[in-house]
Amino acid sequence: MRRTLIRDAIVITMDPALGDLRPGSVLIEDDRIAAVGERIDATDAEIIDGRKFIIIPGLINAHMHTWQTGLRSVSSNWTLLEYFRWMHAGLATRFHPEDIRIANLAGALNQLNCGTTTLVDWCHNNPTPQHTDAAIDGLRESGIRAAFFHGSPKPDPTPGERHFSEVPHPRGEIERLLRGPFASRDQLLTLGMAVLGPHYSTLEVCLQDFRMAREIGLIASMHQGGGPAKTPEGWDVLEREDLVDDFVNVVHGNDLSDDRLARFVESGVTFSVTPENEMSQGHGHPIIGRLRKLGAAPSLGIDLESVISGDMLTVARIALAHQRSLDNADCRAATGGIPETCTIPVREALTWITVQGARMLKMEHRIGTLTPGKQADLVLIRADALNVWPVHDPVAAVLMQANLANIDSVMVAGAWKKRDGRLLFADLERVKQELLRSGTRILGELGWQPELRREEGRERKAAH
Ligand SMILES: [Zn+2]
Repeated sequence: MRRTLIRDAIVITMDPALGDLRPGSVLIEDDRIAAVGERIDATDAEIIDGRKFIIIPGLINAHMHTWQTGLRSVSSNWTLLEYFRWMHAGLATRFHPEDIRIANLAGALNQLNCGTTTLVDWCHNNPTPQHTDAAIDGLRESGIRAAFFHGSPKPDPTPGERHFSEVPHPRGEIERLLRGPFASRDQLLTLGMAVLGPHYSTLEVCLQDFRMAREIGLIASMHQGGGPAKTPEGWDVLEREDLVDDFVNVVHGNDLSDDRLARFVESGVTFSVTPENEMSQGHGHPIIGRLRKLGAAPSLGIDLESVISGDMLTVARIALAHQRSLDNADCRAATGGIPETCTIPVREALTWITVQGARMLKMEHRIGTLTPGKQADLVLIRADALNVWPVHDPVAAVLMQANLANIDSVMVAGAWKKRDGRLLFADLERVKQELLRSGTRILGELGWQPELRREEGRERKAAH
């Protein structure tokens, strides 16, 4: 048995029964957390001096389209409408399987580097099984814990082809994946379904997809919001058919009515919010405050590295600042003054990227907190760094001060993926070069140029 003991650190367990320990120790045996306590003796273990570190559970990124990693920064000036036109109907159609593999590998490695140990890879660029297998290969090679959510692409239909909204989720492909790459339960990769839902598909497709997910026992996750819904009555029918339950995961949800939101919370539906991207692309205000009023909480995701950074601490900080801002504005509107006290404690924002991510994946018993018996997914943050020191409130130090530069070490299932500030991946330079070649080729095929909208680009070209 391999045993590692990290001693005398500040330990933020995120387990209410264990709290924070200062000093605290974590004993890891093979892939699990064996013990958490103030003092633990384990003479046969590898001992790590934790005095310079804050230990937190590995972060959980609940929603990301990792296949876009090679297109970083391309969509940063696009609204959702531009993104649909140019990404889904344009750039996405130029991906070969190898482009998906290298994007998923590089994107997942970056997540590990940023302290994310579990990634929901919401993969909706699967035009062929080869693309899908390549996506899964990229995740596996990275060594991250990942939930691969299989989805279908969204190109403009060619003549004679059905629009994507009319195409049911491919049952044969899900069954193939369950027989093949996801046959084993004893692995870091799990499967979910990234379905179209009422916002992006016909009623017939909605019903078929929801029934299939339930029958197979997979989480059905879908985008909700951004422009008019394809099937406005869809949720009414799905609710009437009793198909809305805790296996349903709604991404965004900005346009859901208060009544429906309340019913969904009651039914156990989970919500994955991508605050920074939602605010940037025009989805509307993230629904964190609306969920809190119902006694619920979101998981958080990056969504698009073609728009923003993949750093989950930044996303949580932005989510917290945004909701506090809305709450403060409400108070000023109602009373003319500043609230007596802060509306959301920092610790709650840390649950969004740990505990709530685990809940969304129905993996609360395995990940999300530093609890004995759970998987050893954890992050060591440098507490002595100039931008963090002195640490009076460890939770606030992590969420409000720390950044990627302070993520010293990352462990997934008892195995180090990053140590002493360096990713333990043999050939990172090769991955970067392949990613560059992939992104450059795809962009080149559509003539994308920085700082220019496509129409502007054409005009300029025409002028010369
Ligand atoms: Zn998304």
